[in-house]
Amino acid sequence: MQVIVIGGGPAGMMAAIKSAENGNEVTLLEKMNSLRKKTVNNRKRKM
Ligand SMILES: Cc1cc2nc3c(=O)[nH]c(=O)nc-3n(C[C@H](O)[C@H](O)[C@H](O)COP(=O)(O)OP(=O)(O)OC[C@H]3O[C@@H](n4cnc5c(N)ncnc54)[C@H](O)[C@@H]3O)c2cc1C
Repeated sequence: MQVIVIGGGPAGMMAAIKSAENGNEVTLLEKMNSLRKKTVNNRKRKM
């Protein structure tokens, strides 16, 4: 099955991974130019 996941946040990435592991052909669409930017940036500031 072809699956399109919209949004490359943690939920979207995990949905895409699990769907691909189940044998689906997955396309992950993200409007920003990188994934997990909010979480990664915040962790960098705390260090
Ligand atoms: C400023 C800030 C800092 C944070 N820091 C941390 C942290 O350090 N550690 C931590 O554990 N949690 C942190 N959080 C919380 C964490 O970001 C959220 O709990 C988590 O991102 C929620 O994941 P999500 O996948 O549901 O949504 P989101 O992360 O919001 O993902 C949704 C994605 O969909 C994309 N999107 C939206 N509309 C479209 C569209 N039309 N087409 C394509 N893509 C689209 C967005 O760009 C986004 O990447 C932070 C939140 C914020 C606001």
